Amino acid sequence: MLDFLIKYRGLFVVLFVLPASLAFKAYMGTRNRLVFWLNSAPEKHDDKVKKVQQQVLAWQQKTGGKIPMCTARPGWQAMSHKQGNYKKTHYQVDVSLMDILQIDEKKGTVRLEPMANMGQISALLKPLGWSLAVVPELDALTVGGLINGFGIESSSHKYGLFQSICESLEIVTANGDLVKCSKEENSELFYAIPWSYGSLGFLVCAEIKIIPSKDYVQLSYIPFKSKHAFIERFTEESLKPANEAYDFIEGLMYSEQEGVLMLGNFADKVPSGKTKNAINNFWKPWFYEHVRAILKQNTEQEEWIPLRHYYHRHTRSLFWEMALIIPFGNSPWFRYLLGWMSPPEVSLLKLTDTETLHKLYDAHHMDQDFLLPLSNLDKSLTYFDKEVDFYPLWLCPMRIFATPIRGMINPLPNEQMFVDVGIYGEPNVDNYNSKETTRKLEAFMRDMGGFQALYADTFQTREEFREMFDHSLLDKLREQTGAVKAFPEPFDKVSRAART
Ligand SMILES: Cc1cc2nc3c(=O)[nH]c(=O)nc-3n(C[C@H](O)[C@H](O)[C@H](O)COP(=O)(O)OP(=O)(O)OC[C@H]3O[C@@H](n4cnc5c(N)ncnc54)[C@H](O)[C@@H]3O)c2cc1C
Repeated sequence: MLDFLIKYRGLFVVLFVLPASLAFKAYMGTRNRLVFWLNSAPEKHDDKVKKVQQQVLAWQQKTGGKIPMCTARPGWQAMSHKQGNYKKTHYQVDVSLMDILQIDEKKGTVRLEPMANMGQISALLKPLGWSLAVVPELDALTVGGLINGFGIESSSHKYGLFQSICESLEIVTANGDLVKCSKEENSELFYAIPWSYGSLGFLVCAEIKIIPSKDYVQLSYIPFKSKHAFIERFTEESLKPANEAYDFIEGLMYSEQEGVLMLGNFADKVPSGKTKNAINNFWKPWFYEHVRAILKQNTEQEEWIPLRHYYHRHTRSLFWEMALIIPFGNSPWFRYLLGWMSPPEVSLLKLTDTETLHKLYDAHHMDQDFLLPLSNLDKSLTYFDKEVDFYPLWLCPMRIFATPIRGMINPLPNEQMFVDVGIYGEPNVDNYNSKETTRKLEAFMRDMGGFQALYADTFQTREEFREMFDHSLLDKLREQTGAVKAFPEPFDKVSRAART
């Protein structure tokens, strides 16, 4: 039965979801341009914010504040595989503000509305010679989701998580007030919003750091056949001060002992005689398979990759999840004939999932990002190999800054280097049980002082969840801003019981 579903899922996706994705992308592209044309400009932004405030006031009048609020964005449009049950029962507020408002080149910032997404922003900034300091991989990831949830990329060893590149945030609170916050102004609120999952209010604007960008990334691939040698070099490169470090650092492990470290820098052009590789052209092998081939050759290599190809290098293969959805997706015949239609829209894949497929994924599949102190990477890889035995594993170093006020995760008093270990696929251990294994991994992560990305399944209890995330500041501000009854707390949006 499993084989049958997986086999026909691929055909179904190719015959129906890929063409529908093309139509959806064309529709969304036209719609975004139209909305931008009709609705764009900072002065219109103020009107849109007023509409959000009016909806909050109407919520108070209509419900007496008794039914909590949430954004009206349907669950299937969000990136997470899981949809929150709360969407069915809570009062929905339309926060679909999706504009890029202003670029301030002197200050090095861009003002964005919450539904602006990574694809839209990187496409606009790139020709102007700018880039967000952290560009999470998939085009559809939104500013609101990345700030209230989490976002990371291979520049996070320098700049931290997506939340850390925010200069100021504006939210509409439970009583309809528009409140601006930054490190200097309403600073407690500023440090409480990251990881708050919309439990403090509706984000309506964010001012975010941009950096000068170039046309290419000069990328070195360094294969390792020893875990210890890999970790030693990965750690050394990640811990360099930001001004001496490579612009981009990423690792892929293909077994407990074998991995490839990738070190990249922005580059203006491809020097003569050097290799240019537009890795995202539809006929090219999926990126992680390209890297696997370099591991097999076991020699260091270097190539120049066009910037947007680098930023979205795992998009065509959804890291390595596409191999499960379209098992023949990386074969040359498919790439040359139909690769131009890939990848399917994640939202449409979710919309066309059946109950049976959900159950199969639940039972056989693991999607987790564990954020762990880098000093525990060796121990962690050994543990994951024993409990999950799934490869490739994604490794991305990330700096967690010490802040004057402690939010959900900031270590005090010193900043720390963490590493995101991404497990996306079907574990190979015998008798894999998703709940039992995930709970074991969660306990291990808490012991290591780590965190779990919340788009994924969490089997933690409320107490364990609160042990992982420090809720002191969030609880205090929820009380102060009247959010307790107005918005569910993060656990009630992401826990296993809260999601289908
Ligand atoms: C297949 C897959 C691939 C992924 N790849 C990456 C990756 O490459 N890099 C990466 O960093 N992350 C990745 N993620 C994780 C992703 O970063 C998170 O899911 C993130 O929260 C972004 O989600 P979203 O834009 O879909 O927002 P949503 O899931 O819609 O939002 C996340 C939370 O923020 C809240 N929120 C959103 N907008 C607002 C607002 N305006 N006001 C108040 N609250 C709001 C929502 O209520 C929700 O609780 C991936 C996840 C999946 C499932």
